[in-house]
This record gives sequence, C-alpha cells and structure tokens, in this order.
Amino acid sequence: MATIELQQVEKKFGDVYAVKPMDLTITTGEFVVLLGPSGCGKTTTLRMISGLETVSGGQIYLDGRHVTWLSPADRDIAFVFQFFALYPHLTTRENIAFPLQAEGASQETIEKRVKEVVDLLQIRHLLDMRPGKLSGGDKQRVALARALVRRPAAFLMDEPLGALDADFRESMRAEIKKLHINQNATTVYVTHDQIEAMAMGDRIVVMSNAEVQQVGTPAQVYYDPANLFVARFIGSPGMNLVAGQYADGVVNLPGSNKYAAAPEWCDSLQEGRNGKDLVIVGFRPEAAQIKPDGMLAGEVYASELYGAHTLLHVNLQDEIVHIRTDRLSRYPIGTMVRFDLDPDMVRFFNPATELAITRKGIS
Ligand code: ATP
Repeated sequence: MATIELQQVEKKFGDVYAVKPMDLTITTGEFVVLLGPSGCGKTTTLRMISGLETVSGGQIYLDGRHVTWLSPADRDIAFVFQFFALYPHLTTRENIAFPLQAEGASQETIEKRVKEVVDLLQIRHLLDMRPGKLSGGDKQRVALARALVRRPAAFLMDEPLGALDADFRESMRAEIKKLHINQNATTVYVTHDQIEAMAMGDRIVVMSNAEVQQVGTPAQVYYDPANLFVARFIGSPGMNLVAGQYADGVVNLPGSNKYAAAPEWCDSLQEGRNGKDLVIVGFRPEAAQIKPDGMLAGEVYASELYGAHTLLHVNLQDEIVHIRTDRLSRYPIGTMVRFDLDPDMVRFFNPATELAITRKGIS
C-alpha cells in the first residue's frame, strides 16, 4: 500500500527549471501516467519521488511520512525504474530470484515467490531457459516478473515499453494493466505516447515545459482539455481548433461560416473572449456530423480510410479541420461538404491566455 504526495515539488538545474513547483496526490492502488513531450520533466519528477534526484524545493510524502531528504533505500518503499536488461548467463528462474537472493531471503521464500509471479505471468515454461532463447515479449515478461517478485508497494516505470515494436507494446500494455489490477500496487508510469497514457492511466498528468498542464482522467483530458496545449497533444489527430470572432451568441469562423453557440455558453463566451472578441472553437473529429443542411461548410482537402472509419480533412478557407465519418463514406477531393457540431462536444478557448473557457455554473 502506498500513497504518494508531492507538495510544491520543484527541480532546477542551474537557473533552469526541469520541473516547476508541482502538487500531486496519488492514492493507493492508483495508476497515474506522467505524459508529455521529450524534455518536459517527467523523468526528473519520477526520480525525485524515488529519491534518486534531490528536490530544489517542496516536500514529498510516502504513506504520510515525510521522506523528502531520505535516501532511496530509507524511503521504505520499493521502486522499479524500468525493466532492466536480464543477466544473459542466468536462467529465467535465476534472473527472477536474483533480487530476493540479494536481499538474503530464505530458499523457501524465494521458491514460493518465484512460483507466484511465474503463475501470474504464465511463464512457467520459460523457467529453465536463458534470455538468449527468449522472444522480445517473453524477455519483458521475465523482467516484469523480476520486478514483481519483491512485491513493491509502488512501481515507478519510465517508458518501459519504449523499445518494443507496436504489436508487443499493445500486448504488454494490456498485461501491465492487468497485473496492476491484480496487485493493486500504486503505479507512476512515464510515457510520451498519449495513446499509451489514455489506455493505461486512471489519471494522466499532462506536462509541458517543466509544468503540469492538467491532471485528470483520460476522459477529462480528452473531452475537457484545460488549455490549447492539452487539446492539441491529446488525441490523434488532436482537437480541431479554429479561431473565430464572437458576437451575440455567434462565432464567425473562416470561410463565412457561423457557429451559433448553445445558449448556456453565451455568458461565459461574453466574458471569456479577449479584448478583440476573439475565441477559439475546439471540437474533436467525431463531434462533427456531415449533413446536407449542416450549419458549417468546407471543401474536402484529403480523405484517409482508417479501416473502421474515414478521416476527412476539410478546408474552411485555409483552416483545415478533421472530421471523422463512417468507413463507407466517399467524398471526392474538391467537393463541398456541410456539417454540424454536437453542441455537447464543442469547447471554447481564450486565444490570449490559451486556457479553456469554462461554462458558468459548471465546475
Ligand atoms: P524524456 O522523455 O526525453 O526523457 P523528460 O520529460 O523525462 O524527457 P527530463 O529527463 O525530466 O524530461 O528532463 C527535463 C529537463 O531537465 C530537460 O531539459 C533536461 O535536459 C534537463 N535535465 C535533466 N537532467 C539533468 C541534469 N542532470 N543536468 C542538467 N539538466 C538536466
């Protein structure tokens, strides 16, 4: 069992922030993903939690204990950084037993624990093989077993699947998640892959430029991004973001398009627009429905069939938006299409602050 609490934790290298002051509380059994582009401070945050990196300010609590200045070993909590390479001269059994032997565990304990993790990961048939004979996925399973055998209360994982190809990534992703559910160990998982984050996280901490941009469930960061960075970074493609001018309930968009905002938004838009009456309208590709009498219109610029659906690139006078349509739809390039937006899925942003405009009365 482990809760992890960061209070105003920060890290500077020289004068430069690697992590700006950050607050985060992770509850027992939660799977939290630190997500962001390269260099945004994810690994540094993980290393501060473990004690491998000192903080420049703030406090860290593990299970309510103040541990900010304790060494990794004195934090009384086992961490797994990544799936370290296996020892090539040892068998699977010996590789898995290694951490327990290093701790001086009894032979009886070692045998019992190795059996448990081997059964959990279904790798009994690999016990007498050396790493050279294992496939990439099996090596990862053995490495995971070696991490699990110590029964850590918390896992810290730094891009553990980074080196695997796409197929393995997907199956290992599911396995790590399944194991997490079985073990209920608090997990902090670093990745720059937003699909991985969405698939695995109970909550996602989106970071950019050494700063937390948003903390939320996958649904929250996807449907209610806190700012333009999150709106663009989450989703593939990201959220459509079209700048327009707001007046009296209507946003004038490129290509002579007009979007009538739902009435419950109007007060917030009146306040949230910046001095020049500008707002950014945001919507996901699946929020648009093509209809002959749709409110908005644009010219088909490109069409991509993804098997299960088609992604249309539609040009609203030099602003390209992405619209998801069914797999059978065919819209030739250069034709005009009309579409409506699902009002429940339309979001608005202030172009000056880049923050989402929140609807009044809705928290
Ligand atoms: P990546 O996905 O590439 O690992 P990250 O989000 O994990 O990136 P960090 O490794 O935490 O980012 O690095 C954050 C910033 O701190 C980067 O600009 C990095 O260059 C800098 N940094 C990290 N470690 C050090 C160090 N020991 N000395 C100086 N700068 C460092």
